[in-house]
Amino acid sequence: PAHAVTPHVVLLPSPGAGHVAPAAQLAARLATHHGCTATIVTYTNLSTARNSSALASLPTGVTATALPEVSLDDLPADARIETRIFAVVRRTLPHLRELLLSFLGSSSPAGVTTLLTDMLCPAALAVAAELGIPRYVFFTSNLLCLTTLLYTPELATTTACECRDLPEPVVLPGCVPLHGADLIDPVQIRANPVYQLMVELGLDYLLADGFLINTFDAMEHDTLVAFKELSDKGVYPPAYAVGPLVRSPTSEAANDVCIRWLDEQPDGSVLYVCLGSGGTLSVAQTAELAAGLEASGQRFLWVVRFPSDKDVSASYFGTNDRGDNDDPMSYLPEGFVERTKGAGLAVPLWAPQVEVLNHRAVGGFLSHCGWNSTLEAASAGVPTLAWPLFAEQKMNAVMLSSERVGLAALRVRPDDDRGVVTREEVASAVRELMAGKKGAAAWKKARELRAAAAVASAPGGPQHQALAGMVGEWKGRG
Ligand code: UDP
Repeated sequence: PAHAVTPHVVLLPSPGAGHVAPAAQLAARLATHHGCTATIVTYTNLSTARNSSALASLPTGVTATALPEVSLDDLPADARIETRIFAVVRRTLPHLRELLLSFLGSSSPAGVTTLLTDMLCPAALAVAAELGIPRYVFFTSNLLCLTTLLYTPELATTTACECRDLPEPVVLPGCVPLHGADLIDPVQIRANPVYQLMVELGLDYLLADGFLINTFDAMEHDTLVAFKELSDKGVYPPAYAVGPLVRSPTSEAANDVCIRWLDEQPDGSVLYVCLGSGGTLSVAQTAELAAGLEASGQRFLWVVRFPSDKDVSASYFGTNDRGDNDDPMSYLPEGFVERTKGAGLAVPLWAPQVEVLNHRAVGGFLSHCGWNSTLEAASAGVPTLAWPLFAEQKMNAVMLSSERVGLAALRVRPDDDRGVVTREEVASAVRELMAGKKGAAAWKKARELRAAAAVASAPGGPQHQALAGMVGEWKGRG
């Protein structure tokens, strides 16, 4: 049959720049290097122009299509982003089924060789199972995170306290020991309505034929080895390291205000400050960060967002607490921009991050430790200062701060009294990263990781081989 020759891969990323962009990268690789065609199926709900920009220039053989919008009107106005996403995923399942059936019945594209669902959409695996389609999870975070999510159902039933009160660290096979408080955000409090959804997520993963993880050996060697032992025993479906799937820098950003400013700065002198597409600070924390950057005396390029006192991931919605979108710069301390002129540049809302990280002038990254940002930092060889906020970012910070990985020179923590990272801590951590011993050690580690990332994604390298092996398997089943 035609699809045995040209596999048709259907990818289902959840909404969010950090999910759509790597799915687009993977689809492009499958089409360009592995003789596949690919359809990227997106959600109309919760999509923003920013999220969809990754779909603007897809190579031949890759197309995008969107599932129709579904009503979320019955959700409480303050429903968490995870609740919204899981609701959209479940409510669009009938539309996904219809779409897959239409592919199955058509000759172009020929059938469906495999469905790759996002880490937040494993509920869709049941639809593929029902239709007899091979099915995998494309996991846009790391294997440490997947291991902890697979453990969540057990955590829920074998412990009684809130996980931040667990007396002992959580030690999972091949994983860095985690304090309960560093586990994923929604399992921190049992009363959180998302808690049970995370337990279901952990169970839904077991319907997969395997996991494609956006990671590479140098980043997670021990975890990959331990997971393979478990999957060989049949405990879990197998996991394949297919990363780092990150965008390459392009010259299109050359005229961007950030790049032009960086062009004027000395090598390795600038701290890049960015908390991903969703990371958000409170009004007080924004002022404290500004004061700390100023006091550090280091050069910085800061992507400034609307602060929010309600939600550490408010930026996903692109507005401030009042729901409008006035100028985020208006929340900076009085006179800050003038006083730091020359040494610092603050830009509103968005920077061309991959180009920034790969700029010779950038020497450090104050990061929320989102996994895409982390892979981009590693691929660019830039050490980080960890400022995790939500989702799995705290466990990422633990991994990055571990001796083995060492990409993060330091991790900042809010002080107990006010719940903010103080200006003093910001200033001293920034100085240590940019000019101290820990920073120098992390710089060395970052350069090693950059070399290892290049090896992983080189032509014919481990990433290529992992994907080729899988495509071969899909063809065999076609
Ligand atoms: N990003 C960017 N410019 C910005 C902020 C974010 O290009 O100003 C990109 C960044 O390069 C990364 C993605 O958005 O690819 C954020 O993904 P990540 O997993 O780091 O964090 P999330 O947004 O999912 O929290």
